Amino acid sequence: MARQNVYVHFPFCRSRCAYCDFYSTLLGADVQHRYVDALCREAEARISGEVQHVYVGGGTPSLMCPDDMGRLMGVLSERGRRLQPSECTIEANPDDISADWLRHARTAGFNRVSLGVQSFNDDVLRFVGRRHSATAARKAAALALDLVGNVSIDLIYGLPLQTVDDFRRDVETAIAMGVPHISAYALTYEEGTRLWRLRHEGSLTETSDEAEWEMYDLLMNRLADAGYEHYEISNFAKPGYVAKHNSGYWDGTFYVGLGAAAHSYDGACRRWNVADVAQYVAADGQPYFELEMLTDQMRYEELLMTRLRTRRGLRLADVPEPFRPQLDQKKVPHLAAGNLEEADGTLRLTRKGLFRSDDVLSDLF
Ligand code: SF4
Repeated sequence: MARQNVYVHFPFCRSRCAYCDFYSTLLGADVQHRYVDALCREAEARISGEVQHVYVGGGTPSLMCPDDMGRLMGVLSERGRRLQPSECTIEANPDDISADWLRHARTAGFNRVSLGVQSFNDDVLRFVGRRHSATAARKAAALALDLVGNVSIDLIYGLPLQTVDDFRRDVETAIAMGVPHISAYALTYEEGTRLWRLRHEGSLTETSDEAEWEMYDLLMNRLADAGYEHYEISNFAKPGYVAKHNSGYWDGTFYVGLGAAAHSYDGACRRWNVADVAQYVAADGQPYFELEMLTDQMRYEELLMTRLRTRRGLRLADVPEPFRPQLDQKKVPHLAAGNLEEADGTLRLTRKGLFRSDDVLSDLF
């Protein structure tokens, strides 16, 4: 079997944030233990061969108790021959972080922590329903840097109440703390979320396009000055800290997704597990799933979408012959508008194109 990465979904949260539409529930510790039992059964049934990187995301994986973390990582190690170097990441919310929890995570085998900071501004954090304060975020990041070292923080820009100067301070705080990896996402108003409803009712002011561009522009400039490589639309890393598991999504590495709502990809098809914790637990390792066979058109779109997200770009020689005339035609207006650039047989999004990547990519399809 080909080299694969493993993604584990832990869909439990203490509360729901105003912008989030990820699948998660507020169910308590008892269900969480039974969920991890089912995860272990699914891992036993589906993991074999060589495993490179592991990523446990959510939800809020930092709610997972030390025993459950150990059991899960133990099964993954027994079932898959771990290729080295292996990056094993666990997502955490700042308010769950303690020195004890970080030591347990390290003992279980995690060597990277991804912290959901989102902002270092208390007013913004309160408005979007995050449970931590700016001080707690700083403390959690400092502790994780001290005890794990390989730390990523998530930031969001374009949030209601957030000014360009607020976001500038967030970026400066992350740089000053020496965080080696930063993911910064533009806010999207996902249907059904609290922010989406507030916008729909006209009770909040959206960040203007100009202000959002100013935020993205300052993010790129400041992080470049501070020695971070901008290697994907939303991702920036100090040398040696590019996220290996997530990079697998953009270079076409196969992955097995375990847990409710988790997706898998093996080059020929995509699979997604039932998005329901109760059904997932009851199935005890044999969850209901749906499967989609990938057509040539889907594979081509996937190639464009994943490669163009990265600064390495799309090697035109990798585009299958039947799709080349289509791409040759569709890229022209975006080259002229300065959204794309082409050099040495490689097509890339420009800085402006990175900011408008959704529009450019959907136009190319
Ligand atoms: S942002 Fe994270 S903590 Fe908040 S509801 Fe979504 S998954 Fe849960």
